[in-house]
Amino acid sequence: MTVTTRKLENDMTPLHRVAIKANGIVIWEIESESCHTYHVTMTRQHVSSCERADGQPCPGWKYRHSCHHATLAQVRELEYQDRKREEEARDMAELAQEIVNEAAQVERRYRAPLNSANRELRMENGIPMR
Ligand SMILES: [Zn+2]
Repeated sequence: MTVTTRKLENDMTPLHRVAIKANGIVIWEIESESCHTYHVTMTRQHVSSCERADGQPCPGWKYRHSCHHATLAQVRELEYQDRKREEEARDMAELAQEIVNEAAQVERRYRAPLNSANRELRMENGIPMR
């Protein structure tokens, strides 16, 4: 399995990932060793087609429903999804920290006695002090 993956990496280059958000379809554009560009179409990591960019069918996909392009696209898609999940988890952690900081700030202002700082706060909010 490791050998197969390494061979794929040497022979082919994934060029682009195009996601069509509305229906969850993802197209991976892959350049093969013979300098043809293949479009692998998938939905939720399930490959539905592979064809050359010039419209010619991919022989492997046409006759066996499996080809190196589809395999590589699936591997890349899984890696992409993993990375995206990690990024989302990190973003959520950062957001949670921001909310905690904000809440602490609001609490400090709320608890502050009526002094100049508090007056400034009311002016900031557009409520004039009388
Ligand atoms: Zn193919």
